[in-house]
Amino acid sequence: MKILIINAGSSSLKYQLLDMTNEKLIAKGNCEKIGLNDPIISYKHDGKEEIFEGAKTHEEAIKKILNILVDKDKGVIKSFDEIGAIGHRVVMGGWLYRESVLIDEKVIKDVEALSDLAPLHNPANAMGIRACEKVMPNTPQVVIFDTAFHTTMPEEAYMYAIKYEDYEKFHIRKYGAHGTSHRYVTQELAKVLGKDVSEVKAITCHLGNGSSITAIRNGQSVDTSMGLTPLQGVVMGTRSGDIDPTVVQFLCSHKNQTVDGVLNYLNKECGLLGVSGVSSDHREVTKAAEKGNKRAELALDLLAYSVKKYVGMYMAILNGADAIVFTGGIGENSAEAREQIVENMENLGVILDKEKNNNFKRGQIELISAPNSKVKIYVIPTDEELMMARDTLNIVKNLKKSK
Ligand code: ADP
Repeated sequence: MKILIINAGSSSLKYQLLDMTNEKLIAKGNCEKIGLNDPIISYKHDGKEEIFEGAKTHEEAIKKILNILVDKDKGVIKSFDEIGAIGHRVVMGGWLYRESVLIDEKVIKDVEALSDLAPLHNPANAMGIRACEKVMPNTPQVVIFDTAFHTTMPEEAYMYAIKYEDYEKFHIRKYGAHGTSHRYVTQELAKVLGKDVSEVKAITCHLGNGSSITAIRNGQSVDTSMGLTPLQGVVMGTRSGDIDPTVVQFLCSHKNQTVDGVLNYLNKECGLLGVSGVSSDHREVTKAAEKGNKRAELALDLLAYSVKKYVGMYMAILNGADAIVFTGGIGENSAEAREQIVENMENLGVILDKEKNNNFKRGQIELISAPNSKVKIYVIPTDEELMMARDTLNIVKNLKKSK
């Protein structure tokens, strides 16, 4: 079966078409600047990339993508019927959704209702779903929630110590994110360890523009660094990560800003970008640091230090781990970041093989710990779309059986 994976944002819509008979990617791309000036659609397949005129609405974007996919000359499928199902990424499933589900009107309404907890993402995700329903009404659709994997966290991990009544009334708690990536690398880790997923005890570090660290016990998330929103946790590309909430009040009064303004600042102007003044991109900051830029060096130090702290916390929570996994753009590609994070942890049983860490073929699973390291260290390339397509296939397969 071929499955279309959609990740809809407010002005973009990323897509991937996968063939699930061999789990291979057929084509992918992004509709950028939807409804803005000069919108474009990129389309990559068989090592080529083409750019098409973009769309004014999400519905138009879906129509255009489908037309490109079935195009007589440039397309990769003969007709829409070849697409057996569509899987949608949704950022916030709250406390309601513990796993991926088949879409019906109630699910869409829930996604919209949960917008209060993810105002930047859920409305756009819902828009993508509604657009697909209109354009392909007979194709089953599935939602894959970023938060679902973390719904196994125990109360003491997800609760904030605020007034219990407010937690109950407003559902203010930790939900986490990147669940699909943490789940995927946990499953891949189980395979390389030769264990059942339920036996995996590990710390997974998803380090990209947004980053989160997760503690995995019995193959399940028992704690994660992101919170009610992705602002909590480690230092990221443009997010500050953990901060004393009083800083918000301080900035409001000293910079004469509203709370919304300061939250926007903490999400978009801080982290690597804010400290270095160079870029939010880890590569750029690394280059600047190599040239002697002290603030760039400090930004990288802050990032590595914050990740190390979470690794240490989760070591304590898990009473040691069998493995530490690095994934995401930085986790998979920056040997410097990995080395900085795990250095001087020998007494916790974590010993990096520096040679292996520096030299391996990218894009594959790699063991980078020394043979005498009690805790194995792996680089595992993430594939959130494949995880989403696997979920979609499983749900649709069962649907076909029960018919
Ligand atoms: P997103 O969170 O948007 O999915 P990615 O997982 O693609 O982001 O990660 C983007 C980050 O990965 C950027 O900071 C980028 O600099 C970093 N990155 C990508 N390739 C490399 C590399 N070769 N070396 C260091 N950092 C890299």
